[in-house]
Parts: sequence; structure tokens; C-alpha cells
Amino acid sequence: MSKTVDKAQCVIAVDIGGTRLRAASVTEYGEIRHLKQRKTLPRRYVQAIISDINGLIEEQERYSHERGFTVRGIGIISPGYPDVDGRVSITPNIPCLTNVPIKNYLKKDPAVPVLFENDGNAGAYGEYIFGQKKKVRHLVVLTLGTGLGSGVVADGKIARGTEGVSGELGHVTLNPDGPQCLCGKSGCLESYFSGFALVQSAKTLLKDSRHLVGYKNNIEAITPETIAEKARGGDRI
Ligand SMILES: [Zn+2]
Repeated sequence: MSKTVDKAQCVIAVDIGGTRLRAASVTEYGEIRHLKQRKTLPRRYVQAIISDINGLIEEQERYSHERGFTVRGIGIISPGYPDVDGRVSITPNIPCLTNVPIKNYLKKDPAVPVLFENDGNAGAYGEYIFGQKKKVRHLVVLTLGTGLGSGVVADGKIARGTEGVSGELGHVTLNPDGPQCLCGKSGCLESYFSGFALVQSAKTLLKDSRHLVGYKNNIEAITPETIAEKARGGDRI
């Protein structure tokens, strides 16, 4: 009698961020394999961004099949609160994706289910399942990218609240007279603590400064990476 051997399984994970599109094959044990990324360039036409997302998924499908993994699903995370088709009503960091039903434009095996989730919620649930050494039932995760994402796990479940957005801390108002946020309000947490906020603060501080020489005299060349590089090199601004 032949013995059945279960094939190794994985899911394809896609992260639509304001700065980068990333994808990886993730095993059932939470191992991240073959992480690949492309620039989001959020001011492009939506078709160009979707084409890159399809390219990343196809690359992961190839990788998984070559290694004998069965792809059990595709999980796509984004800022905002995507519906079952990946449609998000407000995406300040990637405005061209507003109200786009991403699922309808994906090229993929039709047998493979696709799930969409808010990036902060997915981060919190991933931490709950795989991340923590000591099991806890309640936790909060903050994700620092172009924006400030967040997710809350309460009693082992993602806390969504009655309107589905209860874990969103990035647009909680910290100071009504604070800096303008990409969402249109002022003084949100995200307008102080995010990659975007870091760049805005650096631009203000460097505006009339000789320090800008270090940025090739180009204020638009300032990114979180260049700021970190300068700080490590001893630049106090
Ligand atoms: Zn905001």
C-alpha cells in the first residue's frame, strides 16, 4: 500500500505599500521565502501598478511550483479597509487605487482564493499567530511605512468594531492644529510618526540650510533612507 505524502503548502503574500509593492511565498510555518519588491511610484496610472502586482504574483507562482509547493491562496494587504474585491474607499498614500476592485484585474489561477486585508490588521494577526514567543490573547501592532498602520487583536481575533475600522490609530487626532495629514485632516498621529512625516520634517528643517548640500541641493532627493544614512554619519539635523 502506498503512503500518501502531503505536499508542502504556501500562500502568496502581497503588500501594497505607498513606497513599495512587495510579494513573498509564505509557508504554513510562517517562513517568508523569495521576498521580492518593486517601487510603487503611486503617481502612476493604476494599470501600471496592477501590472506590477500581477508580475510579482506570477514570479511567486513560478517560485512555488518549481519548489513543489501547493499554492493555497493569495493574501493581499493594503492601507485602508479593502472589501472582498480589494476596493478601498480612501487611500491617501496611493490615490489612484481609490475604489479600484483590484481582484477583477488579477491574472492568476482561478482556483486559488484571494483575500484582502488592511495592512495593520494583517501585521497584528501575523504577530499573534507566528511572532510572539509568549502567547498572549490581546496585542496592538504599529507598522511604520509611508504611513502609520496599526492593528489590534483582542481575545485572539482582529478587533474591527461596528464600522470595521476600530484598529486604525494612524488617523486619530493628536493635535487639531498640527501638520496637514495626507487624509485631509490636521495633526493625525500619522502626520507625526511615519515615513512621510519624517521626510516633511526634514524638508522644513533643511529648507534654507547649507546641510542641503549633502542632498545634492535637491530637497526632493530626501527620503527616509537618506535621512537615516545622514544621521548615522553624525548629521544632527
Ligand atoms: Zn490623517
